[in-house]
Amino acid sequence: MVVDSLLYTEYVDNVAPRAISVRSVEEAVVQLLRDCVRRLPPDYLAALREAEAREPSPLGRRVLRMLLDNAELAERVGVATCQDTGIPVLFVEVGQDVHFVDGSLPEALEEAVREAYRDLRKSVVRDPLLRENTGDNTPPVVHYEIVPGDRVRIATLVKGFGAEMTSAVRMLPATAGEAEVKRFVVEVVQRAGPNACPPVIVGVGLGSSFEGVALLAKKALLRPLGTPNPKPHLAKLEGELLEAVNATGVGPQGLGGVCTALAVHVESSPTHIAALPVAVNLNCSAPRRGEVVL
Ligand code: SF4
Repeated sequence: MVVDSLLYTEYVDNVAPRAISVRSVEEAVVQLLRDCVRRLPPDYLAALREAEAREPSPLGRRVLRMLLDNAELAERVGVATCQDTGIPVLFVEVGQDVHFVDGSLPEALEEAVREAYRDLRKSVVRDPLLRENTGDNTPPVVHYEIVPGDRVRIATLVKGFGAEMTSAVRMLPATAGEAEVKRFVVEVVQRAGPNACPPVIVGVGLGSSFEGVALLAKKALLRPLGTPNPKPHLAKLEGELLEAVNATGVGPQGLGGVCTALAVHVESSPTHIAALPVAVNLNCSAPRRGEVVL
């Protein structure tokens, strides 16, 4: 009997879910959002400095310098890097061995946004047609994913809508091939012009379904700059797309130059035999991004 109960205890220890209080999730997300809004990612700032060094257009260089000074000032003084503090998009990966306690997770995430945005611009309307401001920047856009393990990882993109509004999805036929994909990506960046506040970061989704490809493009923006796709053919495509986009001449803030984009990130997924879905999600010169793991 003693052996039996030991075995039982061991079994329970192995499968018992890890309890995580939604209050600790809330606190972590408040901090995450506050930091993101005021401090731009170091990999982005490094890419911006590199762009300043290689931009031949004097006006373009001046714009890049202003963006760097703005980022430095925002972090030092503790103010938002851009007046459009956007909609927080949250990617919540939940380990399947996690059990949330002390309340509702979606409500805790909403409360975190409300608290983090207390002194920031309110940019969310309750209804797209009636246009009544929610007054507290809620609700956020939340994507949940169940993963192995007992951790919770929350990544965020705080998306300004200049870049969001210029993003696009196209359901290409299976025969379209890489050349059509490239044409579409360049067309989106060129059409966006100054409205996406370049230099942009270009997130490209390939494959999946209509809604899935848009999510792939958005997730591509979570990847730090300077980290190519691990698949060689996609890393090659990223390099070629960056070159093509920078050959458009849009330049920093659309004022001309070679630094239209700092990076192109491609994410792909299996798709249907009939289609080659492609999505382009642009991120602007205030690419607020971060993550927290509990
Ligand atoms: S697109 Fe980005 S940089 Fe431009 S106004 Fe919106 S948040 Fe600011």
